[in-house]
Amino acid sequence: MNATAEFRKQGWDPVQAAILAKIQPALTAELERTAQPEKKASPEVQALVDLVSLYETKFPEICYTKGGSRARKAMDYVLRGDVIGAGVDRYGNDVWLVAGQKCSKRGNWCDCKDVGAPTILNYGKLCFHRLAIALKTNWKGDKNPALLAYLQKITEDARGAYVDILIERDYDYHGEGNRARVAGYWCHGMSQHERLVPQDVIAATLPQFQWAFGEMGWGLADLPMKLPGTTDYYYRIAKGSDLLLSESIFWHRGRTWRMEDRERMRRLQLVELAAHLEEWINAPISIPLNNYEARRITELRQRMKEESMQAAEVWAALPEALQAAFLENGENDNAY
Ligand SMILES: [Zn+2]
Repeated sequence: MNATAEFRKQGWDPVQAAILAKIQPALTAELERTAQPEKKASPEVQALVDLVSLYETKFPEICYTKGGSRARKAMDYVLRGDVIGAGVDRYGNDVWLVAGQKCSKRGNWCDCKDVGAPTILNYGKLCFHRLAIALKTNWKGDKNPALLAYLQKITEDARGAYVDILIERDYDYHGEGNRARVAGYWCHGMSQHERLVPQDVIAATLPQFQWAFGEMGWGLADLPMKLPGTTDYYYRIAKGSDLLLSESIFWHRGRTWRMEDRERMRRLQLVELAAHLEEWINAPISIPLNNYEARRITELRQRMKEESMQAAEVWAALPEALQAAFLENGENDNAY
C-alpha cells in the first residue's frame, strides 16, 4: 500500500494512515470537480493588458507611488467604454471625454488636476485621461465586425425612422462586468420583434457598440426600454441621433411600460381624489360600475380611509391654482 506508507512517513499512525489512503482518491476527485477554472482574459482584453505593460516599460514615470499605474487605471476606463470621441477643438485637434474629463491626444492637453503626471517630450502630459486615449486608439478590441454587419443589415432594410435593437443584458453578479448581447430587432411594419437563434446572438462590449454606431452614423435615440423578464431591453436607434453613448446611459436600468402605466394611473387617481375628496370617503356609490371600476374604487376608498388624514393634508397643502386645475379637470371628464 503505497499511499498508506506515504501517510505513515508523514507521521500518521497506521490506522489513520490507512483511512487517509482510502479517502484520498475521493477527496482528489472532489477537489478536481469543484476547482475554479483559471480565469483567462479574452484576447481583446489581453491585447490591452499588453499595451499597458508596453507603456509602463516605456514611461516608468506614469506609475503611482502607491502602486499601480496611470496606464492601468486608464485601461479600466477603456474597457468600460468611458472613453468617448467628442469631435475636435478649434485647432482641429481630437477631443475626447475620458471619465467626464475633456482632453486631446494630438492637442497635447488635459486640464485635469493630476499634478503628479509626468510631461514627456513629444507626448505631453501623461495623465490617465490621455493615456486612455492612447490605449483606445492603439487597440483593436473595440472593433466588432459581426456586430457592425448585423446592425448595418437591419438598419438598411428598416422602414421608418428608427429601429429597436433587442439587447439581452446580464447584470454584474460576479464582478465580471455587465454584458450585452444583440439578440434581434424590431422596426415599423413588424408585428413583433425578430429574435436570433441562440447561436447567432452577438456578444458585444460598450466600446464595440460605440465603434459600430460611429461607423454607421446612427446613435441611441432614447434611454433603454426594459421589457418583461430579466434580460431583455430595447435600444432605440436612429440615424444621426447623438445621445451620448456613455456608461450610465447604456447601462441605464431602463424605463418600463409598467412604470409609465403606473404613473398615468396615479395622475388619474389624484384627479379623481382631489375632485371628490369628501364624497369619496362618505357617500354611497349609486351609479352602475363594471367589475374593474368597482374593484378600483373599492381599493381606492379603502386606501383613502386608511390614509384619509394624509390625503386631506396633501390636498390642503396644494397651491390654490393646482387645486383649481384638478377640480376643473375632474369636472370635464366627470362621469359621476
Ligand atoms: Zn488628465
